[in-house]
Amino acid sequence: MDNNRQPWMRILVMGLSLLVMMSFFFFSDREITRVPFETFISDINEGKITDIRGMPDTSYTVLKGEREGRGTVETVVYNTILTEELKKDSGLSEKIVMVPEGGGGILGGITPFLSTIATLLMFFFLINIMARNSQGGPKSAMNFGKSRARLADPEGKSRKTFSDVAGAEEEKTELMEVVDFLKNPDKYREIGAKIPKGILLVGHPGTGKTLLARAVAGEAGVPFYIISGSDFVEMFVGVGASRVRDLFETAKKNAPSIIFLDEIDAVGRQRGTGFGGGHDEREQTLNQMLVEMDGFEENDQVVVIAATNRADVLDPALLRPGRFDRQIYIDSPDVRGREDILKIHMRNKPISDDVSVNVLAKSTPGFTGAELQNLTNEAAILAARDNRKVINMSDFEEARSKVQLGPEKRSRIQTEHTRRLTAFHEAGHAIVSRVLPNIDPVTEVSIIPRGAAGGYTMHLPTEDTVYTSRSYLTDTLSVLFGGRCAEMLILNDISTGAKSDIDRASKIARSMVAEYGMSDVIGNLSFSDQDEVFLGRDMGRTKQYSNAMGDLIDAEVKKLVDEAYKRAETILRDNMDKLKVVAEALLEKETLDAYEFEGLFTEGVLPPELTDREKREANQKVFEESLERKKMMGGEIKE
Ligand code: ADP
Ligand code: MG
Ligand code: ZN
Repeated sequence: MDNNRQPWMRILVMGLSLLVMMSFFFFSDREITRVPFETFISDINEGKITDIRGMPDTSYTVLKGEREGRGTVETVVYNTILTEELKKDSGLSEKIVMVPEGGGGILGGITPFLSTIATLLMFFFLINIMARNSQGGPKSAMNFGKSRARLADPEGKSRKTFSDVAGAEEEKTELMEVVDFLKNPDKYREIGAKIPKGILLVGHPGTGKTLLARAVAGEAGVPFYIISGSDFVEMFVGVGASRVRDLFETAKKNAPSIIFLDEIDAVGRQRGTGFGGGHDEREQTLNQMLVEMDGFEENDQVVVIAATNRADVLDPALLRPGRFDRQIYIDSPDVRGREDILKIHMRNKPISDDVSVNVLAKSTPGFTGAELQNLTNEAAILAARDNRKVINMSDFEEARSKVQLGPEKRSRIQTEHTRRLTAFHEAGHAIVSRVLPNIDPVTEVSIIPRGAAGGYTMHLPTEDTVYTSRSYLTDTLSVLFGGRCAEMLILNDISTGAKSDIDRASKIARSMVAEYGMSDVIGNLSFSDQDEVFLGRDMGRTKQYSNAMGDLIDAEVKKLVDEAYKRAETILRDNMDKLKVVAEALLEKETLDAYEFEGLFTEGVLPPELTDREKREANQKVFEESLERKKMMGGEIKE
């Protein structure tokens, strides 16, 4: 169809798209100034800040008087939890006004107006594009495909270096090579060494992939182009591919340089596996990426770093030699890594003498870097909320529970019956944990609702475990059923509160039978469907075992679960008096420390109140004795 038939239309669309692009620019590229967290808090208290705007991760916008412009809190994050907290509990809400995300600064009041206009423009633009496509018009006539890659500013205030990354020594060493190559390419060329063109960082969210890539840029001091996978994936046909082209062109022009493709799984999914319309676009983008990476000359000094949360959904073509042939797996940090990360995030905060980083690191197994950062931030908020000048250990402990289990929901209204159910439920978990030898010592029991849970029983794992044994898993199953079983025994009623326990137990039992070869009947066979069905991939695959085997597996799973439940029931029946005193104490005190729980269990009464310091010592003592006792029991389950 002839486009010139509607020249006014083309001009209109051109103008609109220009406006849309300008508005993007407007919203995303304003200057960032850093404000240390203490200043932030004291500014709030002194009334200098009247207005805070939520931004996605680490920034907020401060409006008013002396401190105008957007500030990034030093290592302290502004996130939704913080928003809610500030709003609700801190009393700060009287002093400041929270404005939902949407720009700010000098734009202040006109921003909502602008964004409405932008949305409208987008809408018209979209309709127009769709109309053109359905007429078979040229697909990407607009110059909309310009890369939206941002050029990170390595000398700027938000510059990161390897010293900002803790506990990832091997990963850093490997990336150091890349930095060295970009700085002294001749050294490598002379000796005939080829540096990988593509490096893929793989790890769970929050393990520091983005941070590492930024640190590489900061160290290398070369232009660093960041684009996130989600930027590619937009409904406009053809845009993703042209963005890729543009991005690589710019990077080559400015070589040596680094291209950072963040969250590449958004675009690098296996080709031909998508549901519905979106995947054509994805395929073109991906193809373009492959073409560009193959087009690198031997001495193009462009290194592509990509990050993904999951390597399993990536197209095999991306992982071929010459493309992302080097993969760096980033694990959750171990205890030493956690200690170092905590130290990094405590650097700019006033920390009390009673804080033991080592104890905190030990008590946070499985936490990622992002969670640890969140923990230090939450602790700082707790201290600020009490108008204290230093952060002490109890702040960190409370912050740990909060990050682990969600914030306390003291205001949730509960009937007396629900409270009783919860008290017996948690007491049940705790008693079974106390008795079974393979379960980590109980550190806290509570019936204060947190997050989605009605109450919780916390254990302190003694070490980071990579492998778990069968006896640990069977004990865990019994602990999980301890809650439901106690409800049944005492109140002759059961609640939906046990749903997540039952979910977890079923998963564990099924894995034991069908993946870990822990059932004598099934033997050492794995029927795992680890390759998750992802966006249509493998949807049609049939299961890899016979119906007879399926029945056997189901029977074994049921047997494991039933046995575990019976074991929990036996333990609780034998300790009925203890179950009752613990539950009554929970109803009265809501939260029990380790030493209080231990006192109730052994003496039948609550130990005397202690000061904070004494409490910590008492808890530590109970913890060590408990370990000793469990060791003596030799990890064998007594029935
Ligand atoms: P990912 O990209 O893997 O999801 P990020 O790099 O965005 O994770 O990490 C989020 C935040 O967590 C970082 O900004 C940093 O503050 C903190 N963090 C994560 N890992 C580390 C680490 N190894 N050392 C220090 N801080 C870390
Ligand atoms: Mg990231
Ligand atoms: Zn439970």
